[in-house]
Parts: sequence; C-alpha cells; structure tokens
Amino acid sequence: MAFNSAAIGEFHDIWVFCEQREGTLSETDFELVSEGRKLADERGAMLAAVVLGDCGEEEAVQLGGYGADRVLLCSHPLLKEYTTDAYTKVLCDLVMERKPEVLLIGASHIGRDLGPRCAARLHTGLTADCTHLDIDMERYREFLRTSSSMDVDAVKFNMEDTNLKMTRPAFGGHLMATIICPRFRPCMSTVRPGVMKKGTYSQEWADRCVVEYCQADLTEQDLRTKVVEVVRETRKMADLTGAEVVVCVGRGIRQDVERGIRLAEELADALGGVVGGSRAVIDAGWLTADHQIGQTGKTVRPRLYIGLGVSGAIQHKAGMQDSERIVAIDKNDSAPIFEDADYGICGDLFEIVPLMLEELKAAVHG
Ligand SMILES: Cc1cc2nc3c(=O)[nH]c(=O)nc-3n(C[C@H](O)[C@H](O)[C@H](O)COP(=O)(O)OP(=O)(O)OC[C@H]3O[C@@H](n4cnc5c(N)ncnc54)[C@H](O)[C@@H]3O)c2cc1C
Repeated sequence: MAFNSAAIGEFHDIWVFCEQREGTLSETDFELVSEGRKLADERGAMLAAVVLGDCGEEEAVQLGGYGADRVLLCSHPLLKEYTTDAYTKVLCDLVMERKPEVLLIGASHIGRDLGPRCAARLHTGLTADCTHLDIDMERYREFLRTSSSMDVDAVKFNMEDTNLKMTRPAFGGHLMATIICPRFRPCMSTVRPGVMKKGTYSQEWADRCVVEYCQADLTEQDLRTKVVEVVRETRKMADLTGAEVVVCVGRGIRQDVERGIRLAEELADALGGVVGGSRAVIDAGWLTADHQIGQTGKTVRPRLYIGLGVSGAIQHKAGMQDSERIVAIDKNDSAPIFEDADYGICGDLFEIVPLMLEELKAAVHG
C-alpha cells in the first residue's frame, strides 16, 4: 500500500534517530532518548531508537537504559560511513513501513542534513532546533505558565490536542514559537546537542529493551556520492557541550585580546573547565567557531558558567541560561547577563580574573 503521510490515524510510536560514529553512540542520542521516553509516556506509546550502520548490540542496549523500549538496528556495508542518499533511503523506508507518529533527530551536522531530506521525501513537516517538546496539553500549559508572559488561564486550549508541540526560538531569539504539524505524520523535529537533559540510566530498563535487526534495501545505484577517504581534523575541538565548567569570553576582552583569552584559559584550567566565546568573539576571529555559545552556537549546561565581558544578549543566553551556577564579570552594571547571574561582579575583568586566579592557587596550595 502506498505511503500516505496525511493518513495520520495510521501513525503510532515515538522514534529517535540515533547517530553512531565508528560504532559509538553520542551523548545527544541519550539526551533525545530520555526526551523521547517522556513523550512516549505522555502519549502512552512505544519508544524506538533507530541506529543505522555499525553498532554492536551491547552499545545499542544502552539506549534501553535511557528509556527505549526497542532499538531498530540496521547495518549494511553502505551505511558504514554517513551519506545523505543511503541514510535517507533506509530511514525513510523504515518510516514508510512502520509509520511512527514522531521522529526526533539530533541537530548535528548529520542530523541537519538528514532531517530535512527525510521530511521532504516523506511529505511532512520538520521543526529545526527545538528547545522544548510536549505532547500532553496540561504539561504544555504548565510550560507556558512558567516560561512565558502569556495569561494562560485566559486562553482556551483544545485539551484533546495530541500533536507534538515543538517550541523553538524565532525572530533572532526575541520570541519563542510553538509549531505543530497537524495534517501530516511523522511530526519531525531536530534538537541541538545539550538542549535536552539526559535521564538516569536504568539497568532494569536496559534489560527489558528489545534489539531488532532490520534489513536495508540498498545498492550502489542508490548512492550518488562515494566516500573516498575520511580525513580527521587534528585540531582539538572545544568540547563545550559536556563540560562541567565553562569560562566564556565576550567582546569585553577587546582591549587586549591575547591576554583576555590567556586569562580565560588559565581560569578554565584551574577549574578543570573549557573556554567558550560569544558570537562577537567568533565573528572577530579571536576564537574558532567550535567555541561559540548561544542560539547559533552550542548549548551548554555546565555546573559553573563564568562570563568575562559577555553582555548577555538574548541569543547568547539561549545557549547558557540552564547552567547550574552563573557568574558574570562585566564593567557595565546594567548588562543583561546580571539578570541571570547567581553571582555578579561589576568591574574590569583584567583586574578581577588575576585576583581570582591568585585565590584559586592559594586555595589549592593551602
Ligand atoms: C540571529 C542572531 C543569532 C545570534 N546568535 C548568537 C549566538 O549564538 N551567540 C552569541 O553570543 N551571540 C549571538 N548573537 C549576537 C548577539 O546578539 C550579541 O551581539 C553578542 O552575543 C554580543 O557578544 P558580547 O556579549 O561578547 O559583546 P557585547 O554585547 O559588546 O558585550 C561586551 C561586554 O563586555 C563588557 N566589557 C567591556 N570591557 C570590559 C572589561 N574590561 N571588563 C569587564 N567587562 C567589560 C561591556 O560592558 C559589555 O557588557 C546572535 C545575533 C543574531 C541576530
């Protein structure tokens, strides 16, 4: 029977596409599976994780530990390296055969390529870079109540609405938009690394998880591109997403960029952290793009975020406001970063950071 994405009553289950590299799953996979578990519980549905390419059963079962009821494992020599054609075909074939209601994809380089291609082929909608997802209307109302200025009680909602409510920043981060895809299925959404919270691993769940091996109907003729060689970047990328401590520099270092970055590195080293930057710093070429925090950079959720000369524009906050503790150092006492900071220091970072380093050294050496 032909696939019809408008026959929405035929679609069930929540799916998460999980990305493996050389057989290893990513942190985003576990974050999305944890979020998928929440949605599956709200919908009373089954949660499946889909893994294409080389992935051992032991690795796949880990996804069960974060809530996947089933892992669909599809290995094939042509899925070893990611190619748009191969992955799109196999993922779409699976969706057309089994008809999931929701399909979540990490907004990695691969996910950003794969998601829209699949949505177009399946004739459905995709909301990119979501920061919040709900199915249950009561939970969605609660989310609006706690995170928006909307008078929720004055708005009449259809409490029976079972569409996936996909919330993301819009208009340069100045407002949040909730998008639904009411006429087609699956509802597709990409979510950036670090945005969703990874749940707690449960061995009991992992033991219950079923791993199913699926066939991929794929030949060389399906691929228009060929991976000739994989060349690895030798430069160490800033591992911001999983960092426990982030020291972020902003345009406030401009009077002495080299010294500003050195101070940030020393502070990050002393605290076992990683250096990040605002977009102003990346645009000026003072740090490479993998350091950027914010709406168009990375989302961080460290235990400690320290901003050095970062004003706290809304687009920057979008990437760091869920940090457990925020410390801000800025010359301007009305810089918006102070609205979110747990500790604010108004002053010159070039004077304050050396003092902090001295105190840290003294604390370490007694
Ligand atoms: C669509 C869109 C997407 C964007 N995405 C991002 C994003 O992902 N990430 C991001 O960061 N931005 C993003 N931006 C840009 C954002 O709007 C701001 O322009 C940017 O965050 C400003 O960076 P900043 O805080 O470093 O610089 P500024 O806003 O210039 O702030 C510098 C701060 O340093 C302070 N200062 C100066 N000298 C000192 C000193 N010696 N000691 C202490 N403090 C000092 C100043 O008081 C000031 O508060 C985006 C913008 C748009 C339109």
